Amino acid sequence: MIVLRAGTVSDLRGGKLPHDDLIGTLEGRPVGTTRGETFLMVRATLAEFVLAMPRGAQIIYPKDLSAILLAADIYPGATVLEAGTGSGALTMTLLRAVGPEGRVFSYEVREDFSRLAAQNIGRYLGSSDQLVTRAHDIYESIPDGGLDRIILDVPEPWRVVHHAVTALRQGGVLASYVPTVPQAVRMVESLRQSGAFAMVETFETLVRPWNIEGASVRPAHRMVAHTAFITTARRVEQRTAGGEQGTASAGLKGPDHRDQQDADEP
Ligand code: SAH
Repeated sequence: MIVLRAGTVSDLRGGKLPHDDLIGTLEGRPVGTTRGETFLMVRATLAEFVLAMPRGAQIIYPKDLSAILLAADIYPGATVLEAGTGSGALTMTLLRAVGPEGRVFSYEVREDFSRLAAQNIGRYLGSSDQLVTRAHDIYESIPDGGLDRIILDVPEPWRVVHHAVTALRQGGVLASYVPTVPQAVRMVESLRQSGAFAMVETFETLVRPWNIEGASVRPAHRMVAHTAFITTARRVEQRTAGGEQGTASAGLKGPDHRDQQDADEP
């Protein structure tokens, strides 16, 4: 991945490539180096960029970033809180999805990670008025309110559930991203016990690339086998702690009730 700068010349496998030959031209075309080699020039997609950018903290992989966008129902104009910022992969994904009318709050406790994330975000998206970053420990509190969505990529997301009850608007979605089963179980139990969340669901994504070349049509030999478990829940009207949540309203059953529904069928 090369960042184009006027007057700069890159070395590509022993050949020179002047950036001035590329700036202002259309992507998707072959460009030649002084050594006679040809390269296809395209802008990095967001997925390509997050995999190539410098990392402090481990990023959320593209297969999960895309799933989070729909599972947490991120929409243009939404106000979203995420923690921690890490390397900024999720931050960038959220910024693009909420668009110019939206807002992303991002909390991070490590200053070095915040700095790196700011560089990554600036390099790909430029400056963004929609992003508010805070050096803040989300286990302590959530100083922002009226949030439509909260996405947690911290080791102990259950410590945030209590704060999320106040900060997340009713009907809002909370999502967490944790790599191990005990973390996922603890998160699900905390959400259920809070009395303010319902429709708690957990899933993982498995993306298996395929090789399709002539007669060689088969799955790729390698894949990213495990990243993390994604849990989502809806912030609902507070009920007595520990009590069972019934249907959200008459005739509107949540996915929590699907097993029961299936079992009820003759
Ligand atoms: N989602 C990020 C990666 C986050 S890694 C990405 O896609 O790039 C987890 C991050 O959470 C780390 O940077 C860590 O420093 C931060 N973190 C851990 N505990 C935290 C807390 N209590 N409050 C805020 N940030 C926290």
